[in-house]
Amino acid sequence: MTYKNFPMVPKVLFGRGGFNQLNDILAPKRLGIHAPFIFLIDDVFKSNPWITSRISLSYDDRIIFVSAKEEPKTSQVDELVEDIILQSKQRPSGIIGIGGGTLLDLAKAVSIMITNDGGAADYQGWDLVKNPAIYHVGVPTISGTGAEVSRTTVLTGPDKKLGINSDYTPFDQVILDSELTKDVPKDQWFYTGMDCYVHCIESLTGTYLNTFSETYGQMALELCNEIFLSDNLSETESQEKLMMASWHGGMSIAYSQVGVAHAMSYGLAYLLGTKHGIGNCIVFDHLEEFYPEGVKVFKQMKAKHNITLPTGICADLSDSEFDIMIDVALGLVPLWENALGKHWKKTITKQKLKALYQKM
Ligand code: NAD
Ligand code: ZN
Repeated sequence: MTYKNFPMVPKVLFGRGGFNQLNDILAPKRLGIHAPFIFLIDDVFKSNPWITSRISLSYDDRIIFVSAKEEPKTSQVDELVEDIILQSKQRPSGIIGIGGGTLLDLAKAVSIMITNDGGAADYQGWDLVKNPAIYHVGVPTISGTGAEVSRTTVLTGPDKKLGINSDYTPFDQVILDSELTKDVPKDQWFYTGMDCYVHCIESLTGTYLNTFSETYGQMALELCNEIFLSDNLSETESQEKLMMASWHGGMSIAYSQVGVAHAMSYGLAYLLGTKHGIGNCIVFDHLEEFYPEGVKVFKQMKAKHNITLPTGICADLSDSEFDIMIDVALGLVPLWENALGKHWKKTITKQKLKALYQKM
């Protein structure tokens, strides 16, 4: 047996208001006056100086606002990298991603592609990255994806939605300041929070489970149950706990895998552009067969927070469109293997997936 030897985020700051320390953290990492820090920031903060006013730009440092309306694309990463290289006199000192999973993944991918030839699509897969990324920092402003801790950056490319999974992907530094999540809209809070819940269920019920994943997964699941089902938490407690649930949920899948909901949600994302959090919710709602207890509790959480999920999103799809989604989902072999074991193909057929998608 050969065990995986994974890197972890080496530095993490946790605490409300901790974002104020960003400038001090970055200062010693500056490589020179011509080597700027590039801040990739969710454009939801563009008109809100609360974040930007606390970033002190020096020399050629730049803020680039990026919309999180759509999930990150390989072409978008390539464009950002080209722009950064063309406009910087020297290789940047670092990339700082501030936002949700979308911005965190963009920051990771850009930091990798600054030191690696070709396009981001060339590196979608496992362990294809050759050179270490430049210094990169992640500052989540919404909790759930675990992107702040994971070894992947999920990108939609010309022919697949797949992560750049590599030892160079994890952040060098993460700042966990739950105050940054205080203005997240309620529905989005639920969808992204449920990403974490689904990570836990898929990891804890999967065949890849081991004690490393189990302990992190159980911790995250307990936190999710408390956050989404109890009435005893203050807003601050709830925000802090969800931030840690996201982290532990991400740690749990780092050493196992996700499962059916993620495989099918990737299909929806690829064809319809359905975003990850809401896509997982739409799919998970119909997966009683695979995750009976997890789906039961999910429905309780949904009811408690008055969340109404979209329906009929696959109603008007043609057979060839169903095939595209099904092929994307079936291509994620480790996810199916984790969910159902080595003989997953006995249970999962194209017809089966089509019938499930038709319910959504
Ligand atoms: P997101 O980054 O797409 O953001 C969702 C919405 O919330 C956006 O409209 C954004 O502008 C808004 N938002 C974010 N912070 C806010 C704040 N503080 N106040 C108000 N609005 C705010 O959402 P997400 O669910 O965090 O990320 C989804 C992405 O993460 C997908 O692209 C998915 O593929 C990726 N993902 C990556 C990993 C990984 O390990 N790398 C894991 C899971 C998901
Ligand atoms: Zn996820």
